Amino acid sequence: MAAAFAISGRSSAATDADIVIVGAGAAGIAAAQALRAAGRKPIVLEARGRVGGRAFTDNSLGPAYDAGAMFIHWAERNPWVQIARELRIETAEESWGGGFRVFANGRPMADADRRRRRDTFNQIDRRLETVDLAARDMSIAELLGDLGPDSAPVAASGLLLSIGEESSRISARDYQRLWSGDDLVIPSGYGDLVTRSAAGLDIRLNEPVEAIRWDGPSVTVASRSGELRANGCIVTVPVGVLKAGAIRFTPELPAATRDALTGLHMGALTKIAFRVEGDRFGLTPGASLLEAGAPERMMNFDMFPDGKDIVIGYCGGDYARKLSEAGTQEARAHVVDLLATMVGADFRKAVKAVSFPAWWTDPFSRGSYSVCDPGHENAREALAQPIGGRLVIAGEATAGGGAMTVGGATLAGRAAATALARLKA
Ligand SMILES: Cc1cc2nc3c(=O)[nH]c(=O)nc-3n(C[C@H](O)[C@H](O)[C@H](O)COP(=O)(O)OP(=O)(O)OC[C@H]3O[C@@H](n4cnc5c(N)ncnc54)[C@H](O)[C@@H]3O)c2cc1C
Repeated sequence: MAAAFAISGRSSAATDADIVIVGAGAAGIAAAQALRAAGRKPIVLEARGRVGGRAFTDNSLGPAYDAGAMFIHWAERNPWVQIARELRIETAEESWGGGFRVFANGRPMADADRRRRRDTFNQIDRRLETVDLAARDMSIAELLGDLGPDSAPVAASGLLLSIGEESSRISARDYQRLWSGDDLVIPSGYGDLVTRSAAGLDIRLNEPVEAIRWDGPSVTVASRSGELRANGCIVTVPVGVLKAGAIRFTPELPAATRDALTGLHMGALTKIAFRVEGDRFGLTPGASLLEAGAPERMMNFDMFPDGKDIVIGYCGGDYARKLSEAGTQEARAHVVDLLATMVGADFRKAVKAVSFPAWWTDPFSRGSYSVCDPGHENAREALAQPIGGRLVIAGEATAGGGAMTVGGATLAGRAAATALARLKA
C-alpha cells in the first residue's frame, strides 16, 4: 500500500474541507446528511464505485435481490421506516406464504429429528432469562453448555443465520441487549433505498482512504487522488477493515480504541443467489427450505421469492468463511449439488447464473457485521468515543442495541455528526 504523508512520493494537492467522512454506507450517509442539515459541508470518500456499503441491491442476475441487508429490523423505532416514507418507497411485511421444509443432508428430515430440533428452540432466550449474567459475561456456547453436546449445537445453530457467527464467539451480554421488534422489507430493495437516500450529497467514489493523520490542528485524510485537510473526520468503515490495518492512523489509535477493536470481530453471514429458469420443482414461490443435517453447516434457501426466477441461499459462521475463501465456482458447485439433492437433479440444468457476494473476503467489508467477543461487551461504547476531539469512529459496530443493522448504523452516523458539529467550521 502506498504510504501517505511524509513517506509518500506522489504529489498530493492538499484541499481544505470541513468534515471528511470515510465510507458511504448507511452510517456515512446519515452523518453527511446530519452535518449538512446543521449547515456544514461534509465530503464523503468511498472506496467502492457505488454507495450503500453492506446495503446493496444486486441486479446482476436480472431479478433484483438484497445481497446484504434485507430487513428493516425493529421497525417500530427504525429510522428507515420514516426515510422510506419521505422518499415514497413502499415498505411491506415479509410474506411467509410459501411454506417451510427442513432437510438433513438433502433429504426431508425425519420427524423425530425435527421434533428434537423444535424442542431446542427458545433455549437461548430461556437461559438469558434465568442465568445471571451480572457477575460475568460468557459466550452463548457456555450459556447453552448444560444442554449437552448433542442439543447445544442445535440450539445455537440459528445464530449462524442471524448473527452469522459460531456461538462460542458471541458475547451473551451483547446478544442480550440487541433490540428486537417487527421486521419490514422493501420490495424494491433495501440497498436501493439506502442508495437513493444519498442523493445530493458530496460523495466521491473509488476513493479508498489509506491513511489518516489526526494529531495536528486539523485531520489529514489521504486517499487515491490525494490528501484532504479537514476540521474533523468520521470513519465509518467496518470493524473488519479497521482491524486489517487498511487505514494507517498517525499517530496510532489510542489504546482504548485499539482495545475496543480487539473485543470486536466480523461475523460471516453470506448469501449465494442463482438465476433459475423453467422448472419450479413443485414449490410454491416464496417457499423456504432449510438444510440442517449438520448444525454447523446450516443453509437456508428462499425459493423464487415474490415469484422471481431466483433462489437465494444463506449461511454463516465458519461454513460461510470456507465457502467465501473457496471462491464463486467452488461455492456454486457445492450449493448446486446440495439443491439438486433437495429438489431434484434437474436443478442443475435450471441454474443459469450465480452471484456470490462473499462479504467475508470483500476487502471493503471483511465480514457481514460486527460481533462482540465474550467478555468484551463494552467494546461498542469504547469504539464510539471521540478521538482527539476531531476524529470519530462510527457505524453499525458502535450502535449499542442497534448494532449489526442498517438502522443502527444510521443512528450511529447521526450521533457521530452531533459529536463533530461542535467543531469550528
Ligand atoms: C449478508 C448480510 C445480510 C444483512 N442483513 C441485514 C438485515 O436484514 N437488516 C439489517 O438492518 N442489516 C443487515 N445487515 C447488516 C447491514 O448491512 C450493516 O449493518 C450496515 O449496512 C452497516 O452500515 P455501515 O455504514 O456501518 O457500514 P457499511 O455499509 O459497510 O459502509 C462502510 C463503507 O465504507 C467503505 N469503505 C471500506 N473501506 C474503505 C476505505 N479504506 N476508504 C473509503 N471507504 C471505505 C465501504 O465500501 C462501505 O461503503 C446484513 C449484512 C450482510 C452482509
